[in-house]
Amino acid sequence: MSADPLHRAGAPQRTPTNPPPNGSGANAIEVRRSTRRRRTVSAYREGDRTVVLIPARMSEAEEQRWVSVMLDKLAAQESKRVLGDAELAERAERLSGQYFDGRARPTSVRWVTNQNTRWGSCTPSEGSIRLSHRLQGMPEYVVDYVLLHELAHLLVPGHGPRFWRLLEAYPRTERARGYLEGVAAADRLPHVPGARSE
Ligand SMILES: [Zn+2]
Repeated sequence: MSADPLHRAGAPQRTPTNPPPNGSGANAIEVRRSTRRRRTVSAYREGDRTVVLIPARMSEAEEQRWVSVMLDKLAAQESKRVLGDAELAERAERLSGQYFDGRARPTSVRWVTNQNTRWGSCTPSEGSIRLSHRLQGMPEYVVDYVLLHELAHLLVPGHGPRFWRLLEAYPRTERARGYLEGVAAADRLPHVPGARSE
C-alpha cells in the first residue's frame, strides 16, 4: 500500500493500568513480534512492563527506533493525563508522607477552573487545597511542586524562611518555579503566534 506503511502506526492502545508513579518509566520492555501485524506498531503498559508490538519482519535497527518512538509517545500521553480529584488526594497524601512526615493532612484537594492568577491556593482553617486547571498537562514535577507548596501552607502560613525550608526537601523546587515563571512570562507576551486562545 503506502510507501512507508509504518508511518501509519496507530496510536498506542490505552490500558486501564496506571502508569508508574513519578514518571520513572517502566523498566522492563517487552517487544512482541507478530506475523499477523504487518504495518502497525503499538505499545502499552502492562503492570510495570511496557509491551511494544511490532511486525515480525522488522529489522533490529527498526525495532530499536520504534521502541524509542513508542516510549516517547507513551510518556507524552501519560504526562498529559489528567489526574482525577481522587488521584490528586492520593498524590497529596504521598507527597505529605514523603516530604513532611505526613504532617500536612488536607481534608480536600481538587481542581478549580476559576483560579487564573494563582496556580494553587489553600484554606488552612478548612484544610482545603485547590489547584488551577491550568496546571493540567504540565509536567508531573510541576504539579507536585504546587501541591507540595499548598501542603506546606497547611503547616506554615506565608512565605517566610520556615516555609521555604520545608520545600527545600523537594529536589525540583527551583526547576518547577522556573517552569511556572516561564509560563507566566509567555502568557504576558503579546501576539505570540500559536499562543493559547483561552
Ligand atoms: Zn504560597
